Amino acid sequence: MEILKAIPLIFFISKTWLQLVPKEKIIYVRMSSGSKVSVDEGVDPEGSSSSLTSVKVHRLKGIKDGQYSNPVFKKLSVINGEINRMPREELIAKLGELKLDSRGVTDVLKKRLKTYYREKKLTKAHVPTPKKSLPEFLMVIDFEATCEENNDNYDHEIIEFPVILVCLESKQVVDEFHSYCKPRINPQLSEFCVQLTGITQDKVDSAEEFPKVLRRMEDWMKSHELGAKNKFAVLTDGPWDMSRFMYHQCRQNKITYPRWGGKWINLRKAYSNFYQCRRTKLNDMLENLGMTFEGHLHSGLDDSRNIARIAIRLAEDGCELKVNEYLHYDRNENAFKSKHITPDSPKGSTSEEELNQSMDGLHLTNDGAANETEEVDDLLEYYRIQRS
Ligand code: AMP
Ligand code: MG
Repeated sequence: MEILKAIPLIFFISKTWLQLVPKEKIIYVRMSSGSKVSVDEGVDPEGSSSSLTSVKVHRLKGIKDGQYSNPVFKKLSVINGEINRMPREELIAKLGELKLDSRGVTDVLKKRLKTYYREKKLTKAHVPTPKKSLPEFLMVIDFEATCEENNDNYDHEIIEFPVILVCLESKQVVDEFHSYCKPRINPQLSEFCVQLTGITQDKVDSAEEFPKVLRRMEDWMKSHELGAKNKFAVLTDGPWDMSRFMYHQCRQNKITYPRWGGKWINLRKAYSNFYQCRRTKLNDMLENLGMTFEGHLHSGLDDSRNIARIAIRLAEDGCELKVNEYLHYDRNENAFKSKHITPDSPKGSTSEEELNQSMDGLHLTNDGAANETEEVDDLLEYYRIQRS
């Protein structure tokens, strides 16, 4: 009975201990068969140096099931340990030797080298890598909207609608859609908005209103057979483009939120998960990759082109870009919210089911009942990040 009472305490201590132990000191237990247990100290078989999270537990389950029993994983673990210890100059030299890109901060270089060895060794050892359902194309979107310097309770309307189409196989931009949109509620752009976005009054005056632009964009999608023959995912810098700007615009125009916009890849999330770093804004992501922003910051077209450059670099470095957020209709709060999809959610998990349910929910009309306080706080936080 006493032992039973102690179980939660033991669980708590072991979990807390794992958080406190330096990453390199975490011991990964390899259970290849039956009672045979060997111990690897250092990085885990995936080469990541993050702490034991639920994702890690998922991976450890893979180890238990024999997924990592091939000796090549032991070799990779040793290689990854060596890469973790390499000084920056050595990393640059090694990448140069292998004719790989050597731009970027140290964590980026480490990840690039680890991915190279992982792919090389697994191919050589004929280890089958599970076939994942990944998009063939990315639709990179970065909306610009009407705004004022102090945006509290401001009714944003989309004024620029750019889409960059990236082919993930060739890792190239293959087409662009671009249009300005005429705002209805605040047809006159504020001086602040013109300065921020570089969008002049004549551009929006001569543009069509959002519903017509959306229809043209969807025709453009059809011309590329996106969603028909070609599998694609929307990619944005943060959750706001779809869950705030697009969602509000559809509500203002009383049009159904498009099904294709119900889920997306949040680049900031994909980036920080892949390179194991802090979530950061567009300029900093570029800088960490050794690149600089090209064009006018806050121009929708230039922003989306630069976001596409980061996405391409991530794909080149071996990141599997897949949907990690979706618009979720919360019946209890009577509001739409963006929700996180865990990177390792197995197919058919709750997230996947929830996603499908929410996609059906998108056809509900949710007239003005969204949780406005939460939305205002969220947007203010966004502007704060943008200004910093
Ligand atoms: P972004 O994609 O960062 O260029 O921002 C998208 C939209 O958010 C802009 O078109 C503005 O409507 C709004 N926005 C961004 N930053 C600010 C800011 N510092 N102050 C007010 N509104 C902003
Ligand atoms: Mg922008």
